[in-house]
Amino acid sequence: MLEVTNLTRRFGGLVANDAISFRAEAGGILGVIGPNGAGKSTLFELITGFETPDEGDVRLDGRSIRGLGPHRINRLGVARTFQKLKPFAHMTVEENVMVGIMQHDSNLRRARDAALAALDFVGLLDKRRVHAHGLSTGQRKRLELARAMGTRPRLLLLDEVTGGVDQRSIPGLIELIERLRREGMTIILIEHDMQVLMSLADRVVALHLGAKIAEGTPESIRADRAVVESYLGASYA
Ligand code: ADP
Ligand code: MG
Repeated sequence: MLEVTNLTRRFGGLVANDAISFRAEAGGILGVIGPNGAGKSTLFELITGFETPDEGDVRLDGRSIRGLGPHRINRLGVARTFQKLKPFAHMTVEENVMVGIMQHDSNLRRARDAALAALDFVGLLDKRRVHAHGLSTGQRKRLELARAMGTRPRLLLLDEVTGGVDQRSIPGLIELIERLRREGMTIILIEHDMQVLMSLADRVVALHLGAKIAEGTPESIRADRAVVESYLGASYA
């Protein structure tokens, strides 16, 4: 469904993404790992049109989406969550989800129905009238998911959805992502928690200092020497 080729993004002298290539197969869950600063979020910015690559291409269903803006790419069926949550704090939970949907469809009734369906899916229906600033971190992550899902994407990019979340909320988030997969969504997941990764991902791409250093099954990645070294340093490995 998605093919990234030779994707490169520089910020001044820093190469945040260095000739990265991989594919995400339709219906699968692809994990992306790497220590802080490896270039994971930048990769999502490039795929979703929030940043433009210096080199390389992004293809969706075989067609280049490079250089299209975030709204165009979203309309083609690609949605994302943000690592740094930025809900509209003084809007209700329901309004936060509706804002995203109404960028596609200005019909208020349909937008509300879609928002309520998404909130029901993530288990936040009872919070729909609460202001977003009144939510816990775990609930905000669910709001982010509902916001991304509300536009009914085919490809969903999740940036550390379990990060900073109470341990008790994690099984619920895993179950949610499983359900999205069962509904036919293709998912790319940036994830630090190995347990979450092992239970969800079919394949994993590992990044370090902007470059892809390994790709394979979660089991092979967990045992990969370069991956272990990138996290823990050569002496530990
Ligand atoms: P990760 O998500 O893997 O932690 P990022 O993609 O956020 O990593 O960042 C990769 C590198 O690129 C980091 O060194 C970061 O400081 C840098 N970087 C990211 N975005 C920008 C930007 N807009 N301007 C300058 N440097 C950036
Ligand atoms: Mg990041």
